[in-house]
Amino acid sequence: MTDGADTDDAVSIAVTGATGRMGRTVLETAADREDVTVVLAVNRDPDEAAIEGLSIEPADDLSALLAERNPDVLVDFTGPSSSLEYVAACAEAGVAAVVGTTGFDEDERAALREAGETIALLQASNFSRGIQVLLGVVGEAVAALPEYDIELTETHHNRKRDAPSGTARTILDRIDDVRGEHGATDEDRRSSRVYGREGEQPRERGEIGVHVRRAGDVRGEHEVLLAGDDEVFSVTHCAGSRRVFASGALAAAVRLAEREPGYYNFAEVLEGT
Ligand code: NAD
Repeated sequence: MTDGADTDDAVSIAVTGATGRMGRTVLETAADREDVTVVLAVNRDPDEAAIEGLSIEPADDLSALLAERNPDVLVDFTGPSSSLEYVAACAEAGVAAVVGTTGFDEDERAALREAGETIALLQASNFSRGIQVLLGVVGEAVAALPEYDIELTETHHNRKRDAPSGTARTILDRIDDVRGEHGATDEDRRSSRVYGREGEQPRERGEIGVHVRRAGDVRGEHEVLLAGDDEVFSVTHCAGSRRVFASGALAAAVRLAEREPGYYNFAEVLEGT
């Protein structure tokens, strides 16, 4: 549902990166939902006037736009630096934020966590429910098969900027956590990621091979493979459309609107209702 078709209990949403691939899909998906109303759509250098009947505003003064439209939650799919700027504007305005942007470094992550002291903020590298299940299954598999070799492969469209994907990093962090619970030290885990291989490079015990492919318009594929002698276990997730991420982000926004300030993850917010 977009501006002009308001209902009293719908959560009001602002969308940044509105003319991007994900922002546009969020607007299209929101138009089909009863539980959200988009009150603001923003893009830096708007390259089109309107989407789904909403005019696209320039991002120059997001604070003023937030004060004027008063959304409950901002949904952001842009780039790390702009995302941080937009989150700062949300913190100032008391607007909750769902951040789908990926590619943050450690300092940028710390800044997001800090904003979570002021507003309800959720950052997730992947808003599909299937990836949540994959994370659980991978955790179980790594715990049950600690000596097996692990290789992670991800494929995305040819315009994706960050590599490996935010989702791949989330999967690697999950593997680290499970290995940590089973006695691996931080140093063991950090040194164990190998990004591609070339030339004379035999596999070291415990290393995780990470492989990145960029091609065509693939929405997002992740495969985690565990192999021991004489057997291979693998789990794969394929996103068929960006709508799966947009639906997840909007569901998260609806639930986040009721939350106290804090830094949340997708699973917590989904499970919390
Ligand atoms: P895109 O390039 O199609 O769209 C990004 C939009 O944000 C553009 O309209 C661009 O003009 C705007 N923008 C504003 N400031 C920007 C900046 N500093 N850098 C880049 N763009 C900026 O990209 P997309 O495919 O929509 O992806 C956007 C982000 O969302 C990426 O970080 C991507 O990895 C992430 N993503 C997350 C999920 C998820 O489920 N969390 C799913 C898909 C994509």
